[in-house]
Amino acid sequence: MYNAPGPKMTDTNLYDLDFPRLQEWVASWDEPAYRARQIWNWLYVNPVASFDEMTNLPQPLRERLQEAATLDVLKPVSEMHSADGQTTKLLFELPDGQLVETVRMDYQNRHTLCVSTQAGCAMGCVFCATGQMGFFRHLTVGEIVAQVMFFARRLAAEELRITNVVLMGMGEPLHNYDNTLQAIDRITAQDGLNLGARKITISTVGLVPAIRRYADERRQTPLAVSLHAATDEERDRLIPINRRWPIAELMDAIRYLIDQTGRRVTIEWALIAGENDTVEQARKLGHLLQGMLVHVNLIPLNPTAGYGGRPSSRPSVQAFQDELERHGVSSTVRVRRGIDIQAGCGQLRDRMVQSRAQQQPATPD
Ligand code: SF4
Repeated sequence: MYNAPGPKMTDTNLYDLDFPRLQEWVASWDEPAYRARQIWNWLYVNPVASFDEMTNLPQPLRERLQEAATLDVLKPVSEMHSADGQTTKLLFELPDGQLVETVRMDYQNRHTLCVSTQAGCAMGCVFCATGQMGFFRHLTVGEIVAQVMFFARRLAAEELRITNVVLMGMGEPLHNYDNTLQAIDRITAQDGLNLGARKITISTVGLVPAIRRYADERRQTPLAVSLHAATDEERDRLIPINRRWPIAELMDAIRYLIDQTGRRVTIEWALIAGENDTVEQARKLGHLLQGMLVHVNLIPLNPTAGYGGRPSSRPSVQAFQDELERHGVSSTVRVRRGIDIQAGCGQLRDRMVQSRAQQQPATPD
């Protein structure tokens, strides 16, 4: 079987370039200025997957692009569909061999992408498959954007559009601050994909200085903070970064963000049976959040191989939610999507790495 060669590491990923840089790049080739706009439109307005499809570019330019640039930094290596057909998970290989995941979730009127911002993650949250694997590297702007555009092309072929993007895949988005924010600027650009900034959610585990920086920038894109515990003792166990920025500092940063932006902050809470799903924990959380402009997402835990925790039972979830309500804190129980395809971040990558390891010939001692 013939395998087409993948992109070279030296190729320019066109999704790494914003429009001014694309203009400079095109100008350095002595091409007329309008070629930059034509290429931009093929990247973001009528997105195509190959230079051959950029039909208004002259053939020699397409060949030159083919030689020096790439659109396909993401090589799909595995694709899984949930039994109900509403969740699709793609595992992509990057040119340096790193593996990242992107998940598409279809709802009645929404098509949401869950995008990765890093290969692996340095935060080490104990219940998370990505946290269990460690950190490899930050994704570039283009690698983040390319995940969105891969699915934008796919949805366009179905006459659909991406309606929401959540930066909740592999990695801590605020640890890769500049690239993540530039990627958001790119996919919200009005002369491109034009996704609404409020249709994107950045999920963070609580990097306090980054939250304060984000607050000062007064951006439109909402933040979701993964809290998961209401006491430092408990949170230190689940989320090691809490030892650096404990709950009191994190809550101060969240209050500052709300003050600066006037926007509601989402609090994420993975409900783990017997660990953080008791009425007592709900009471502590209620005290912590009382009177704040927040909304809590309660998500029964997505089990992973490296962590023994189980999702909470339905009655425990209900009791937890009732207790929050008694404190005037609004919450929603979120449905876990794609459990049958390991849609929790990092799980598919883990499986692929294990199966590749099993295929390696055994080395003699
Ligand atoms: S939950 Fe998020 S921040 Fe924590 S280890 Fe997993 S990917 Fe990283």
